[in-house]
Amino acid sequence: MCSQVEREARLSHDESMANVSGGGSQTALREQNTAAITAALTSGGPQLQAGLARATGLSRATVSNIVGDEVAAGRFRTEKTMQNGRWGTLVTLADNEQYVIGIDIGRTHIRLTASDAAHRLFGLREIALELGHLPPDTFARARQLVDELVVEAGLAREQISRIGIAVPASINRDGYVVQQTVLDEWSGIDIAALAAEKLQVDVVVDNDANLGAYALAAGNQEGTLVYIKVASGIGAGIAIRDRLYHSMSGLVGEVGHMPVGEGGQTCYCGSRGCLETLASTRSIASAYARILGAPATVEDVAAAVMDGNPAAVRIVTEAGDALGRILASICHLLSPCKIVIGGPLSAAGTVLIDAAVAAVRFRVQPSALKSTVFTSSPLGERTEMVGACLAAHNPPEGAALAYYAPVTDD
Ligand SMILES: [Zn+2]
Repeated sequence: MCSQVEREARLSHDESMANVSGGGSQTALREQNTAAITAALTSGGPQLQAGLARATGLSRATVSNIVGDEVAAGRFRTEKTMQNGRWGTLVTLADNEQYVIGIDIGRTHIRLTASDAAHRLFGLREIALELGHLPPDTFARARQLVDELVVEAGLAREQISRIGIAVPASINRDGYVVQQTVLDEWSGIDIAALAAEKLQVDVVVDNDANLGAYALAAGNQEGTLVYIKVASGIGAGIAIRDRLYHSMSGLVGEVGHMPVGEGGQTCYCGSRGCLETLASTRSIASAYARILGAPATVEDVAAAVMDGNPAAVRIVTEAGDALGRILASICHLLSPCKIVIGGPLSAAGTVLIDAAVAAVRFRVQPSALKSTVFTSSPLGERTEMVGACLAAHNPPEGAALAYYAPVTDD
């Protein structure tokens, strides 16, 4: 609810507007009706819109109008609810505490958390997804997880002001997935609009490596940070000071499709010898599976590396070497202050990053590397999710925003 001072200020503003238009009595009547509804909610607690009409003696249309305005002003909040087999609109006084949620969507997972105005994180939900999951179903499941998190935290849905979403795909400013990605079925879809519709809240959507860089560069006042996410795909996010670098097309940091050398395997993108064919978790897991003669996951490889399995160590070292060849080009181009490497292989200790740094040092002049720090992400597997939260609080320039437009009833 607004304070008395705010209410008076608003009233005098409304009155002055009404005086200009000559509708002073109408405005006063509306204020009176709003006060009656507010009083009913204060004394009676959350109520259905139809019940408020009965309690105040106002018409349902008047109640609906006023509730709509008060929701828009952040003083009331509403939610659809089922009572006696019929859908109704439950109206509650808003306490004006707003929260955001950050969602990290991967090829085989959804992970999300909430964050308060002080940027403190709370609650965590994570589920595995089957390969080839499709956006409508994925966002419907994300909605369920959001609802669980909101209930667990004792919040109301209306207190979630925005949701940030990180996806392993290139997104243009209009919210479309602009090219084939590790989420092949997502190509060409306006996922920002779809997410806003399914999650029923305003959203900001960006590439996961971008949002990882956004999280890691928060508060940076100088220099350039490059975040490399090594997962099913390999992407880079670039932050100059604390601002993300975006292109007009939506494509940026596609290091996974930079060729490591001549020849090599054909990549799903149609090119040959891409970094992803050598260093993605998919290629690493399948190389280890060939040795085992049985299916293997990247977690199996990481565990084998930690056990000192020589074949697993070799596979990850070679992946790190391929990654380092590409990082050398990035160092020549940007001379970043920090290169941060993230993704599930951080569970394999420093083998990947050590091999990558060795390959960089072999190719880049020492003077150019003097000011570059290589590190694994201190936020671990939560890097992209934390970036999604931060984006929800403070959308990066160039990221795709979509607004939820609720359909009013009555
Ligand atoms: Zn490729």
